[in-house]
Amino acid sequence: MNLPSRITIREVAPRDGFQSLKDFIPTKQKLETIKDLVKAGVREIETTSFVSPKAVPQLADAAELMAKVPRKEVDHSVLIPNFKGAQNAVAAGADKMVVLISASESHNQANIRRSIADSLAELDPIFSIARENRVEVIGSAAVAFGCPYQGEVPEADVFRILDAYAARKVNAVIVADTTGMATPLRVERMVARFRERHPEIPLVLHFHNNRGTAMANLLTAAAAGATIFDTALGGIGGCPYVPQAAGNLPTEDVVCMLADMGIETGIDLLSIIQAARRLEEVLGYTLPGQVMKSGPRDPRLAAEICGIGDHL
Ligand code: ZN
Repeated sequence: MNLPSRITIREVAPRDGFQSLKDFIPTKQKLETIKDLVKAGVREIETTSFVSPKAVPQLADAAELMAKVPRKEVDHSVLIPNFKGAQNAVAAGADKMVVLISASESHNQANIRRSIADSLAELDPIFSIARENRVEVIGSAAVAFGCPYQGEVPEADVFRILDAYAARKVNAVIVADTTGMATPLRVERMVARFRERHPEIPLVLHFHNNRGTAMANLLTAAAAGATIFDTALGGIGGCPYVPQAAGNLPTEDVVCMLADMGIETGIDLLSIIQAARRLEEVLGYTLPGQVMKSGPRDPRLAAEICGIGDHL
């Protein structure tokens, strides 16, 4: 297997994770999690989103949170659905903004209440305001591997959006499996097509685990040449507009697997496990992550951190 020597993790728990939770997480708590992530070595965070607080009340504190986040050594991305979101992102001093468009009409309508054509029509003003303020733009294509409403999503529909980002010299793109419909061979094909078509643009893959294929998808994508992945502490997350949405890939599970294969992420495994366990304590229910329960491969450390040594 031909794997990269280094993989970059984009941590999405503060946005994709928290937005899926019903009970409001106090800003102070969100900040603690973000500080834990930075301490563990995370350097790219999707910190919040500037969407209507009516649609996503959990992230209504976006501006307040952005005013308090640690800035040293870490880049903060914010998700935006439209131009108003871009204005707010600039005002909040975001390093990067993630523009979101779904590859299926029905999901774009459900998620951001407008047509794909309307979303595409707003790209020029979004890119302009970002460029004027030196904010990087990451273009995201949601439901790129299948849609919970329409089923199959033709590859041409995904590239209609990715090409629109590419034409505007986007800084990176995210190809998102919003509902966990991707399987490894679909992923391999998508990564190959993208790299053929836009070799100069950094590609981020975003996998949800609704059908248990997320880690297999990550490994396949890495073998196909992808080097940037979205993951979430403890595996929290899920799109609020997708029925039964399951979490993201747990950051600590990915770091554990990659570390054992000699792939550098810059993230300290023990610190990230402890961060996941602290988050679980705060949220008060069991998170999907596995390594936070089983511990690292070293039995002594596993016993020390997760207290499971006695049961072996
Ligand atoms: Zn997601």
